[in-house]
Amino acid sequence: MTSALWQLANPQLRELVSYEPGKPIEDLARELGLAPKDIIKLASNENPLGPSPKAVAAMRDALERANFYPDGGGYYLREAIAAKFGLRRENVILGSGSNEVIEFLGHAFLRVGDEVITSHHAFAVYYLMAQLFGAKTVAVAERPGFVQDLDAALAAITPRTRLVYITSPNNPTGTVVTAAEIERFMDRLPPGVIVVFDEAYHEFLDDAPDTLRYVREGRLAIVLRTFSKIQGLANLRVGYGLASAEMIEILQKTRQPFNVNGLAMVGALAGLADEEHQKRTKAVTDEGRAFLQERFAALRLEYVPSHANFVLVNVGDGKLVFARLLEKGIIVRAMNSYKLPEWVRVSVGTMEENRRFVDALVEAMENR
Ligand SMILES: *Cc1c(COP(=O)(O)O)cnc(C)c1O
Repeated sequence: MTSALWQLANPQLRELVSYEPGKPIEDLARELGLAPKDIIKLASNENPLGPSPKAVAAMRDALERANFYPDGGGYYLREAIAAKFGLRRENVILGSGSNEVIEFLGHAFLRVGDEVITSHHAFAVYYLMAQLFGAKTVAVAERPGFVQDLDAALAAITPRTRLVYITSPNNPTGTVVTAAEIERFMDRLPPGVIVVFDEAYHEFLDDAPDTLRYVREGRLAIVLRTFSKIQGLANLRVGYGLASAEMIEILQKTRQPFNVNGLAMVGALAGLADEEHQKRTKAVTDEGRAFLQERFAALRLEYVPSHANFVLVNVGDGKLVFARLLEKGIIVRAMNSYKLPEWVRVSVGTMEENRRFVDALVEAMENR
């Protein structure tokens, strides 16, 4: 990496290791010579029921207008999101996935040498986006049980700290922080530090802390949500941030004019109104997660009790079990890059998929 071209590149890119996504179904189908429909993907916390049928119908109509640029201001979707939370459109920014809003935060607030606080087993994109802007990621130790430690996060704050990520439920651990822990943290937070509540799995919670109150109170806070998980629109790339009008105004300046495509906005708008589909997804998730956790317990496998649509389970050798499951047409996520080499993360599927996964797991763990 000392070639003339690398010398021209931003130095922080040398260290940057690209994100390792869940293995695509098409890849494994090609490798095994199988039809894509015979492969089970439980690797990226996607909705096993697919998108809302209402979202699909709306997008089908919108396809005919693919020649027109989308509404770059995202008027209707931002209005609908704002109305749902009792906010104004000025409090909403859309992203090409909430991942893109994480990047906007970097453009807006991170300078070389700044610090970003995450927990030890945090979503990889926080680190990647910090690195992109030359900021240092401080990953603080967790409490026992992989629970994010907000007191430790407070203690790690320095004058260079710009962003603190609070992820609840957390990916890849599935753990949550309580409303009381968040309140205590927010009460003691020094000025000049922006709190990012990443709530990609919020809709799977029965009793979620009200973090939007900090947005309403005008605190330095942003809440991130996405249509990729419970809404089943991961392929379309649409998510959003909720914050003060001033913070949104700043973030809006960092984005490309048409960052979210029109199909995604139309699908998200229809999906948002389809409460029934979200309810059904949550019910399938609750049942499947309980099933997986019961089976792990019966098999004497250590797992982290989850509040999201996936479960982290200790299989001894994550890479090996991942590879053996692939041979059986099942894709889960090995956790090496998350500093958890003994573990795999499995997304909750339909009950049929969950059963096939558990049967295959039992075989994969024999004769090790
Ligand atoms: C999935 C996920 C996101 C959002 O992903 P997008 O598809 O970009 O909206 C954000 N944070 C965490 C922790 C996630 O797991």
